[in-house]
This record gives sequence, C-alpha cells and structure tokens, in this order.
Amino acid sequence: MPFNLPEPWRVKVVEPISLPSEREREKRLKKAGFNLFDVPAEAVFIDLLTDSGTSAMSDNQWAGLMLGDESYAGARNYYRFEEAVTEIFGFSHFVPVHQGRVAENLLFSTLVQPDMIVPNNNHFDTTRANIEIHRGLAVDLVIKEGRDPAAKHPFKGDIDLERVRRLFEETPRARIPLAMLTLTNNSGGGQPVSLANIQGYSELCREFGIPFYIDACRFAENAFFIQQREEGQQGRSIPEIVREIFDLADGCTMSAKKDGLANMGGFLATRDHELLETIKQRLILIEGFPTYGGLAGRDLEAVARGLWEVMDPEYLRFRVSQVGAFGERLASLGVPIIQPVGGHAVYIDARSFLSHLPQAAFPGQALVVALYRGGAVRGVEIGSVMFGRKDPQTGQEIYPELDLVRLAVPRRVYTNTHLRYVCDVLEEIRDHLDQVKGLKMVYEAPVLRHFTARFEEI
Ligand SMILES: *Cc1c(COP(=O)(O)O)cnc(C)c1O
Repeated sequence: MPFNLPEPWRVKVVEPISLPSEREREKRLKKAGFNLFDVPAEAVFIDLLTDSGTSAMSDNQWAGLMLGDESYAGARNYYRFEEAVTEIFGFSHFVPVHQGRVAENLLFSTLVQPDMIVPNNNHFDTTRANIEIHRGLAVDLVIKEGRDPAAKHPFKGDIDLERVRRLFEETPRARIPLAMLTLTNNSGGGQPVSLANIQGYSELCREFGIPFYIDACRFAENAFFIQQREEGQQGRSIPEIVREIFDLADGCTMSAKKDGLANMGGFLATRDHELLETIKQRLILIEGFPTYGGLAGRDLEAVARGLWEVMDPEYLRFRVSQVGAFGERLASLGVPIIQPVGGHAVYIDARSFLSHLPQAAFPGQALVVALYRGGAVRGVEIGSVMFGRKDPQTGQEIYPELDLVRLAVPRRVYTNTHLRYVCDVLEEIRDHLDQVKGLKMVYEAPVLRHFTARFEEI
C-alpha cells in the first residue's frame, strides 16, 4: 500500500512554499531557456533537483548550532565530531572537510598519478573528475544487473568481484593506488551494496595489498537495505551493521550533505596515519586547520548530531519506504520507472514514457519542462543533455544509453502529501502525452553543458 507509513516527526517550524500561476510558470520557462537550473528556487513548488545538502535539520541539530564554538583550533564541536566518526565508523584518524569532493580531492591528489587505475562499482561524477584530473583511470565494475534498468536484483549496487579479481591479477600492484566502493551506488540509481559483496571486495583488496576506501555518502540507507534484504541480517541493529561495513575498510570519503542530515560538511577518514599527516598539510592549504576543515564550529556540531540521528531505525524505515512508495505509485499510474527503486530518488525512463519524441528532441529535458509547466515541480534530466556530446569529427550527436529524469527526495523535507501531489502532476502529463513538446538545443557550453544549455520548443 503506497504512502501508508506516516512521517515520524511533527512540524515545529514551517517554511512557506507557493505554487506560481500557470502564466508565471510559462514566463519562467521562457526566461530560463527551458533549463530548470536557471529557474530561481522560489519559483519552484516541490524541488526534487537533489537530495544533497537539502535535508531538514532536527530540533536537536538546530539546538546544537547554538553551542557552536568558533575558536580557531580545538573547538569543542570538533571533539563531538571526532566522537561520532570514531564510534560510528571506527576510524580514529580523519579530517573534516566542507563537502565530499574535497575529501576526494585530498585523497586522489595524494595517491593518484598518471595511468593509475581506481576501480569502483560506479564512480560518482566528482569522484571520477578528481581521478581523471590526475590522468588516472576511473573504472566502473558494477554487476551486469546494475547496468540493466529492467533487472530486479536486491543489491544492484554490488561490484563484480570476478572482474575485480581479473583487474587485480592483470595490473601491476603499483598501478592501483586504492579501490573504492560507493554506498549506495548513486550513479547507478541509489542501489544498495550487500554486506557479502563488501566482505568479498575487502578480502580481494587485502589479498592483493590494495587499500580499500568506501564512498560513504549514503551509508545509513545502505545499512538499512542490508538489514531488510540480506539473509541473516534482520535481527541486527543499524549501528552494528554500519560498524561491520567500515571495519572492513581502510578509510572513507563522506559528504555529510546526504546521510549526515546537514546542509554542509563531510570528512575523510583513513587508517594510514602517515598518509593523513601528508593530507593535513594540503588541507591547511585549501580548507583550513585540521580541527575545522572549512566548517564553522556550529556546522561540525550539526554534522556530529546528524550522523547519529540518521541511524534511527524509525527514520530509516520511513525514509526508504517513502521513496519506495513514491516509485510504486508512479509505476501503478503507468509511468515507467527504474526498478527496484533505490534509496534516495525515483528515476523515470523518459524515452519510453514520451515515446512520440525522438532522442534528438531530448525527451528527458522535455519531461523536466512538463513537470514544471504542470505543477512547478523541479526534477533533473540525466540523459542526452547531461551526457550526450558532439562527435569531434562528424559533428553528429552521440547519445547515452538512457534518457532518465531523476526525482530526488530531500530528507525530512517533504511529506507524503507533497509526493502524492507530484504523482498527480505526472498523472496529468500521462493523460496528455501528445502535448509534451520536444526541444532543440540553441546554446551549449563546451563542458558540463547541462547547467547552462538553452532550448527552444519544437
Ligand atoms: C554527493 C556525492 C559526492 C560528492 O559530495 P559533495 O558534498 O557534493 O561534494 C561524492 N560521492 C557521491 C556518491 C555523492 O553522492
């Protein structure tokens, strides 16, 4: 039964949102060149652009902000942060950073040299970019079910251990500075990784003497999936599962903008003390002193509290079931989505939904526009606009495999009623599919074109 679990919180503070009129929406779309990145957030009613940094903090976290100690060195909040990282993840050596990509920057700029290889289930874009900028190779080795949008598998984020073994056997040890694993697999649709797979990967890394690091952004959501879906895990607590996962690793990168339930923050942890000393020198250069790492004392406190709160079983049950119910409801309305639904977002297969539009007319972006036009809902295209590119020789457009629209659900922000409203908007679109117009790209930047591209309707 979709949306049958009530929110495990009550409202203490409200932030007004409003639905702009149809005329207003039309004006906004034209002004933005049909690119939702260029629409002011105030003109959006339900914003499902990302789950990153968009969480609502609890009363406990807001109270923590007042206890911010803004001393330059050794602020009390640093020690609260340290306690959380040590007790939850079991890492006693770490540095705070202002967001996840800085942890990646610090780790890879220290370890990766040209032609080195870093395997992962799927590299997130900033992870990949931070490896490639040092001319390293970011290799994606997710299991084949993870690449098939129709395949039903409880752990579609698992890494293919046979391919990992082959890579380790065929590559000189010195060319693999570390191995990564992303929990949950964001670029693969927020799909979880099983504990058995983490164990297997960790053992392989140990066998070949390769340090094993986890991209921990959604560690709690992943642990919840393990508790629900993996044999023998049902009786265990979330903190217990989390601790077992990280005991298998040599370190982790973390963006607290996801499962830190904070609006900013992150950390890099490692068991390699020497490496951390080198990293601290670089941290001082780009982020700040090692007891604040680019964060205010109050932010350290909010993250420290968020890391504990996110493991609350009632919160996690609601979180994962809300996103799941959102997807199930859309599927029952005949909207094609990627199955099974992952931990933080629902992905609509726009090309099959808008089958009257050719790929050249950007069906994903057309659906993003229809969502805004229909109800001021903001999603993001993950398809031909984001990943398509022109062949340098022929000038022909090269298209990616899928044209998806991601509806990411911020944590503790929207109620079931808000998401039901989004389903209603999509139901309306479904009933008038032929009215959804294709788009023509009239401006594109040479890199990361999706942020600034402009379109006209055909
Ligand atoms: C968001 C994210 C990052 C980067 O974190 P930022 O805080 O945005 O810099 C890295 N890996 C994954 C899997 C992410 O989802």
